[in-house]
Amino acid sequence: MPARTWQLAVFAALFTVIAGCASSGLAQRDGYVADRRQQSSAFNERVRYVVLHYTDSGAPRALKTLMGPEVSAHYVVARTPEERGGEPVVWQLVDEQKRAWHAGVSAWEDRTQLNDSSIGIEIVNRGPNHDAAVQHWEPYSEAQIAAVIALVGDIVRRYRLPPTAIVGHADIAPERKIDPGPAFPWQRLYAAGIGAWPDADSVARYRQRFERCPPTLAQLQRALAAYGYALPVSGERDVRTQAVLRAFQMHFRASDYRGEPDIESAAIAWALLAKYRPEALQDARLTTLTCPPGSGSGRGFAP
Ligand SMILES: [Zn+2]
Repeated sequence: MPARTWQLAVFAALFTVIAGCASSGLAQRDGYVADRRQQSSAFNERVRYVVLHYTDSGAPRALKTLMGPEVSAHYVVARTPEERGGEPVVWQLVDEQKRAWHAGVSAWEDRTQLNDSSIGIEIVNRGPNHDAAVQHWEPYSEAQIAAVIALVGDIVRRYRLPPTAIVGHADIAPERKIDPGPAFPWQRLYAAGIGAWPDADSVARYRQRFERCPPTLAQLQRALAAYGYALPVSGERDVRTQAVLRAFQMHFRASDYRGEPDIESAAIAWALLAKYRPEALQDARLTTLTCPPGSGSGRGFAP
């Protein structure tokens, strides 16, 4: 056998062995073989958060916009999703392992630029009706909420995301964004095992306590920051504080989301910390309440 033919035969035999081993951890790549038989446990997932949005144009236009070149989302949920085999169809425009461009300048917990670390889901919804004398928000349809619950539930299970990792665009970019808005049924998602929600009895206990002796505005800012919002503890009623409070209220107390500090918002914030971030309540700056002389219900957050 000439040397060249002999080499080819050996190569072919080796290739067959390697190709045969693909399922056992050897992968033939472009010019090299990757041996994947040893795997490290020291890694983490790109996906740490799910960010929910609404897109206020109809599905065809929204899809066109989200297919680039400037913005995108991993998933889009139509107002009335099509069904296949009795299950809702959602559009997936970007692979989960790739960054979609949906979050923009954003921050949550200790992270910024959440495009890097999140899956973005756009839900078709008109948002607020600015023309009406009384602002009206379009309700999300039952069918799309069922689809969102199935989709986010699956993502949560696959990446083992904690409840506090499911956020709205407004939560991570409160001065720029209001979506998914106060009509989004966060409590229903919680009832389906998705996202965070405070326990009602815990909120009631904190409300009673704060009616006797309210936290300061600085303490409320510290509590919101401990929960995940990017909020400096200024002690001032500044634009950032109002925007964060508005986002927080749209998420957890949608009956009033003017962004004003109040006892109930504080009670919700502390109840969320008690449930999801108990370590934050070890901080004496949150647990020490200094009752002003003559304080009682109604004093609230006087500067
Ligand atoms: Zn958005």
